[in-house]
Amino acid sequence: MQEPVAPTLTPAQGRTLALLRRADEPVVFAPEFVAQLLSEATQAVAELSTRLGGETLWVSKSFLAKVHGCEVLHLAPDDFEWRPATAAGFVAHKAIELAINWRGEPAPAEVVDEAMARLADQADGRGAFVAGLSQADWAELRSRAVDRCTKFLQDFPPLPLSAHPVLEAAAKWRPAGTIEMGSKVDLVVGKPFGRESRLLIVDFKSGYRSFHHRDDLRFYALVQTLRQGVPPRKLVTYYLDYAESEVEDVTEGNLRSALMRALDGIERHIELTVEGRPPQKRPGVACRWCPLQSECEEGRNFLHGDNPEVVADLDT
Ligand code: SF4
Repeated sequence: MQEPVAPTLTPAQGRTLALLRRADEPVVFAPEFVAQLLSEATQAVAELSTRLGGETLWVSKSFLAKVHGCEVLHLAPDDFEWRPATAAGFVAHKAIELAINWRGEPAPAEVVDEAMARLADQADGRGAFVAGLSQADWAELRSRAVDRCTKFLQDFPPLPLSAHPVLEAAAKWRPAGTIEMGSKVDLVVGKPFGRESRLLIVDFKSGYRSFHHRDDLRFYALVQTLRQGVPPRKLVTYYLDYAESEVEDVTEGNLRSALMRALDGIERHIELTVEGRPPQKRPGVACRWCPLQSECEEGRNFLHGDNPEVVADLDT
């Protein structure tokens, strides 16, 4: 029988693979630490649920980013609508999912077309958006998704199905009370092996580096730990335009800080929505697309000032 031929990696693929590989020594977190984290999280969420007075709360990475950002914007009505620029991510992820399972070598445009056709049949907001696109928006979305999909297929190391890759992987944790935590991550790789931490969590970004990206991944690691009892191994933000990765090992310290940040975010939300604390304006990158910008002097001053953060955080 012929041996399978090892794929020839490009330098970019090789560089990323070297960062993602497991070390020889298995990573195993102390069971006492995981049990303590779970116990603290469960107790704190139960107390915060009581303060919510029966209201249910879905805590996601975007909820936390908003509540830790400008509190006025956090309380503003959510008028989010899909646009070709924001929808390119989910179309590309669907296309990559198809590409990973494709018979033969997938062409990016081919899998993107198939992904858009399938998404248009979906009975949800994403499906309705794709099905209702004008010709020009359809073309723009296709072009953006092909760009992302091509970069992934050309620059990210090939993913064997034996590594259990899952695109748009959802993880949720629902303790007693009215608060649920959950998130979707772009890619999870690896399969459980007892208490050994093997999961690799990957988020794809098409923009610049930002410290928010690390917070997003740490939150996902927290949810994964609380629901499964085994922390992931590594957190990776992969920048498609640069073919570069920001990699962080999961540690007790970053799981603890993720829990503190999540609990602090929930508490702020309760103070603002239930207990009547006035919201604070916190100008930042979000001022760029804030619907209140025209009536907010602080936001306009921030945008017109010399703020490198504004151009350094344009993740579309
Ligand atoms: S413009 Fe900026 S500071 Fe003003 S409300 Fe919006 S996000 Fe907050």
